[in-house]
Amino acid sequence: MQKKTVQDYIRTIPDFPHKGIMFRDVTTLFADARGMRLCVDQLLAPWAGEEIDAVAGLEARGFILGGAVAHQLGCGFVPIRKKGKLPGATFEQEYVLEYGTATVEVHRDALPAGARVLLVDDLLATGGTAKAGISLLERLGAEVVGCAFVVDLPELGGRRALEEMQMQIHTLCD
Ligand code: IMP
Repeated sequence: MQKKTVQDYIRTIPDFPHKGIMFRDVTTLFADARGMRLCVDQLLAPWAGEEIDAVAGLEARGFILGGAVAHQLGCGFVPIRKKGKLPGATFEQEYVLEYGTATVEVHRDALPAGARVLLVDDLLATGGTAKAGISLLERLGAEVVGCAFVVDLPELGGRRALEEMQMQIHTLCD
């Protein structure tokens, strides 16, 4: 019998959070010991052996993945949080959602200038969230060496948008 792939551990829940949305639920992947290890190993594979100073994760599932990837790479972790959650002085970046806007923040002293950072999240759709994260990391003076996502929804254009910024994108399934 064929072993399960990362994709096999992810379920799709219809009409969440709104009618017509097919929500990719990665909690079933995270809950499985083999699935979680497979996912983390595959996410960091392109950068294994490279000098990475920190992993940055996008709230909230990017924290779960990013912490595990950082542990495996032997580097630190930087959270990019929704507005109002970080206690210290922050940079903030607004971005466009389907309905309205959202804002993410990073601590101004999260990284030294020149730090080589890998950005991690669970899913790439329009790329708006990731682009906001990249913009924050660049304002810190960091070098974003790439972005890793578990799921890519290419029809929503995120991959194209990030590749147009010359960003190295790594995804595990669609
Ligand atoms: P984007 O900004 O349009 O690329 O959307 C990506 C962000 O929305 C990520 O932070 C994801 O966690 C979240 N997201 C959007 N759709 C889904 C989904 O179907 N499952 C899990 N997360 C999603």
